[in-house]
Amino acid sequence: MTDDPQVPVAPEDETEIPESHPRYVSLLTRHRIERGVEKDITSLQGLIAEGRGEAFDYLLGEETTESADAAARAAAAHLLLARHPVLSVNGNVAALCPGELVELAEVVDADLEVNLFNHTEARIEAIAEHLREHGATDVKGLTADARIPGLDHARAKVDADGIYDADVVVVPLEDGDRAEALGEMGKTEIVVDLNPLSRSPQMAAVPIVDNVLRAIPNITRHARELREATREELEAVVEEFDREAALEEAERRIREGGREK
Ligand code: ATP
Repeated sequence: MTDDPQVPVAPEDETEIPESHPRYVSLLTRHRIERGVEKDITSLQGLIAEGRGEAFDYLLGEETTESADAAARAAAAHLLLARHPVLSVNGNVAALCPGELVELAEVVDADLEVNLFNHTEARIEAIAEHLREHGATDVKGLTADARIPGLDHARAKVDADGIYDADVVVVPLEDGDRAEALGEMGKTEIVVDLNPLSRSPQMAAVPIVDNVLRAIPNITRHARELREATREELEAVVEEFDREAALEEAERRIREGGREK
């Protein structure tokens, strides 16, 4: 928390957080997650996940690195090339960037599917409603009529015409087991996670080591830029991206700090 007298300890409204504050993004993030828990969108486990992410973000300098930007561009190219792209939404992501997810889904023509680690009907409905309040028209995840092979019942649930059918999935803050199981189904996974050593980015075709608050709008920006590109040009962007180098660069930055090499 801040000791800045300008910033109330628990702002009632995010407009009370001055944008000029040096810890603006961090304060905004905490505020949104807190409100997410109050609205039963985010689980208590989600609070722990947020704290962990924030520590990594601090070490990364709270900015999008060059390699994370290259990953976001590769993600945009994958999404534009996809037959059926789906953006998976959990409680943290829904609380942090609902409008940004709706915008990305529109730009790349993807489905939004609520997919929870702590699966309850009430939370799925609350998240779907929250996304609708931010402009989503069709939210998947409520039917849950298919199963990801190799996972226990609760975590395996997906929609047959959503994640189950998708060829490219964006899974921000996914748990490692499910990331692995989705990979085994042959899906191209785009993972957003601030910890490059976590299993999900290690599994991903495209690991984006960045805060979801920055990464999702950044994928959208790249997708807008690439919208007129040919298939060959998009495939070249995908080819050029080096996932190992991106993970190594993120780890180096966290361990050593400073600018990229
Ligand atoms: P794994 O099973 O993949 O190894 P984990 O146990 O390390 O996962 P969890 O605590 O389940 O991770 O999930 C939280 C993950 O989400 C952490 O890796 C954390 O860095 C990341 N995270 C939290 N907040 C954000 C955020 N705002 N943007 C991006 N990543 C975040």
